[in-house]
Amino acid sequence: VLQEKKIIIIGCGAGGGTAAQFARKQNRKAKITIIEKGNFAQYSKCGLPYVISGDIKNFDNLIEFSKEWFNKSNINILSNTSVESIDKINKKIIVKNNNSITKKSYDSIIIASGSNPQIPPFENINKDELPKGFHFLRTIEDGKKILKEISNIKKATIIGAGLIGLEIADSLYKKGIEINIIEALPEILSKTIDKDISNTIQEKISKTINLFTNYLITRIEKKGRDYKLFIKNNATFEKITIDTDLVIIATGTYPEIKIAKEAGCEIGVTGGIIVDNKSQTSLNNIFAVGDCTEYLDFVTKKPISIGLGSIVVRQGIAAGINAAGGNYTLPEGFLQTCTSKFFGFELASVGPISNNLDKNEIISSKYEGLSLPNYYPGGKLIKIKLIIDKKTGYILAAQGIGDNISLRINTIACAILNRMNVEIFRKLETAYAPPLAPTLDVITIVSDIAYKKLKRIN
Ligand SMILES: Cc1cc2nc3c(=O)[nH]c(=O)nc-3n(C[C@H](O)[C@H](O)[C@H](O)COP(=O)(O)OP(=O)(O)OC[C@H]3O[C@@H](n4cnc5c(N)ncnc54)[C@H](O)[C@@H]3O)c2cc1C
Repeated sequence: VLQEKKIIIIGCGAGGGTAAQFARKQNRKAKITIIEKGNFAQYSKCGLPYVISGDIKNFDNLIEFSKEWFNKSNINILSNTSVESIDKINKKIIVKNNNSITKKSYDSIIIASGSNPQIPPFENINKDELPKGFHFLRTIEDGKKILKEISNIKKATIIGAGLIGLEIADSLYKKGIEINIIEALPEILSKTIDKDISNTIQEKISKTINLFTNYLITRIEKKGRDYKLFIKNNATFEKITIDTDLVIIATGTYPEIKIAKEAGCEIGVTGGIIVDNKSQTSLNNIFAVGDCTEYLDFVTKKPISIGLGSIVVRQGIAAGINAAGGNYTLPEGFLQTCTSKFFGFELASVGPISNNLDKNEIISSKYEGLSLPNYYPGGKLIKIKLIIDKKTGYILAAQGIGDNISLRINTIACAILNRMNVEIFRKLETAYAPPLAPTLDVITIVSDIAYKKLKRIN
């Protein structure tokens, strides 16, 4: 029997919006309300760099589900309204719109409050008042400000060489802007892929842009309309000064947990709200999804919080269905399957990077081959790495760059999820036709290499 459950969702990003849709599909009688402090309904943050580059025409194109869409689906959406706190005893949430405070009763809550941008410790800059010309790219509002400013600039600096920093750098580069990237660690993409894979990208892009790895910004000074950034190498202490017209900070985020923490939800070591594989927090009837949460790495079973839209949406499905009275269980942890494209590189990875695994317990194999049979023109080079468990031969992780790499990595994701042994996986029968794929795909060959290494040891 369907119950007229009152479900309140805090935040209408990918997590909150997805949860609302699946709650509605599960229970047509549920009274669903989304409360969003911003002005927009559900839009894709992931698409923001491509509006800057011009590949996507307009920020409006990023809106996936409008306020009208939610209203038509009988989901009440209150924008420009924020949730101030949760009164668990009376099962009410306290809501603020302009200056008026109201209370709304609930049967279950889904917290989908997202994350906030992290700001590096600049010596002479107040974090709460970033100077004009300094930006994040997290929202449509941020994107509009950047697009307005870049129409008459020559040089831009991106702080942080993670996936998002590099996507933004590529977008600005396509606009003809000279690019500096400053990264505090010795390697780019250090949270996503291993050094031996990222090196290929690092070498190639440093010919196109000014890439400063292992550098920290020490001071920032204004010079007329522009800025001077003083940077220092962590190893050699070499000091360099960079002139720039615009700075974009892409040094990661931290989970927005204020309301959850005050309500008594357990917070994990990464700073996110701990959720289980039903997207349930430590409190009854309170679920949480998305960038504000902490969950397990499927392979290591250690807590992580990495901010991927692909994870957020899956958590949203679970929370929506479960909050509406259904029963949906996610796998015991997330694979962190991800992909990106910048400066002509396609990149994808699944599972933990080597640094997050015990080096004594793994074997890795690498292979470089073509996307098509050697005799067929147009094949492109693919570099792929596979990591397996030394004792069992289970596939744990994979990373690569090259043609259609995300689909290849997705196949390996399937093997990891099913705890497949490399001995079986190397026998996988992949599709073959000269203009599309070789008889033995790079995923098969890299698995075979790993298997042979395993046999030599055991
Ligand atoms: C530029 C960029 C590119 C990206 N590219 C990719 C990609 O290619 N692939 C990928 O997997 N991921 C990507 N991501 C990450 C992905 O976009 C995020 O993981 C995802 O959007 C997070 O969704 P969310 O619902 O958890 O949080 P958000 O989208 O941040 O939504 C949270 C919402 O909650 C609202 N809120 C917060 N507190 C309150 C409150 N108290 N009351 C009311 N409302 C509140 C906020 O206003 C916000 O709208 C990218 C992110 C960015 C910024």
